[in-house]
Amino acid sequence: MPGIDIPFNRPYLVGTEIGYIQEACARGHLSGNGWFTKQCHGVLESMLGGKVLLTQSATAALEMAAILTDLRPGDEVIMPSYTFTSTANAFVLRGAIPVFVDIRADTLNVDEALIEEAITSRTRAILVVHYGGVGCEMGPIMKIAEQHGLVVIEDAAHALGGSYRGRPLGGIGHLAALSFHETKNVMAGEGGALVINDPRWIERAEVVWEKGTDRTRFARGEVAKYTWIDIGSSFLPSEIIAAVLWGQLEARASIQAARWVVWRRYDASLRPLADDGVIGVPHIPAHCEANAHLYYALLPSEQARDALIADAALRGVQMVIHYVPLHLSQAGRRFGRTYGRLANTEDLASRLVRLPLWIGLDTAASDRVLSCFPMLSRTV
Ligand SMILES: *Cc1c(COP(=O)(O)O)cnc(C)c1O
Repeated sequence: MPGIDIPFNRPYLVGTEIGYIQEACARGHLSGNGWFTKQCHGVLESMLGGKVLLTQSATAALEMAAILTDLRPGDEVIMPSYTFTSTANAFVLRGAIPVFVDIRADTLNVDEALIEEAITSRTRAILVVHYGGVGCEMGPIMKIAEQHGLVVIEDAAHALGGSYRGRPLGGIGHLAALSFHETKNVMAGEGGALVINDPRWIERAEVVWEKGTDRTRFARGEVAKYTWIDIGSSFLPSEIIAAVLWGQLEARASIQAARWVVWRRYDASLRPLADDGVIGVPHIPAHCEANAHLYYALLPSEQARDALIADAALRGVQMVIHYVPLHLSQAGRRFGRTYGRLANTEDLASRLVRLPLWIGLDTAASDRVLSCFPMLSRTV
């Protein structure tokens, strides 16, 4: 089998990374919460509006959110099944039960119309995932949460740069998690952030972030010594990670622009097929701005999808599926439960393929990716 020369992902380095790591070393502060961390906090806070704490991953940010929500064993968190494991795992670690509801067929986001029916006396939170950087219906979702006294947590791992009715994704729910994993638009290898949009949690979040101590207040000179005051863990990343991230955040506009170029090339060829009902492609509602995080196609059947992936691999192009629905997974069956049938989730997950999308993927490469679609070559 020939090698893959168009991989699914290729992490993009903006060119400032090594210099900023050197600068972090020169500053002599390599643990967390130093100069680069504060730069990152500043820019993310100006983008999102809430208080931001860098973490080692979105997974860590979700674990912090689960601690801050004060979940008790048996409490329930409503969430989609079509998501990454960390979305559910963070809450299972606190003894909570993920309650999986179905997704919308158009955006593949949680179906907001099902949330209210899934609420029980044990429900504490609603977890939304902005799939591919396209916003969930946050207006209705925030309203349901308010009526039932629930916490809304945004898994905004894909979503930095996207917006819903003019509001930045990650800046709408009470809490939000961002990811800077190397597969995301802005990356630091591994990395993430917790966004605290409801100020009632800021003080406690700083404690949870710093191993359950008030070390953050100590660093600001607000207390003479720091001690253990609550549960927590070591959630903050080192300055080396923050230095890489800062360079990426500075370049975020050009990163977005370059990703859109690739996204639009795919879209120009594949959307006409979608208009003819041959395949499905990403749907961005008029009131949402997306961020070119991913491009996918929905094939007519699982067999057609799997055949496309196999054929693409023979042509050196790596195409991939996305989430195996959590309610079908071993751990999902053990720790979660479903609300109703998850028909869209099971159907769409079985037919979805993601196309390679990274900066530097040129026209020749995107043409080769597109040439893998049999229904496209028949029409040209
Ligand atoms: C990537 C991803 C995560 C995990 O991010 P890490 O930073 O790797 O922990 C969580 N949720 C979703 C939806 C993701 O895509």
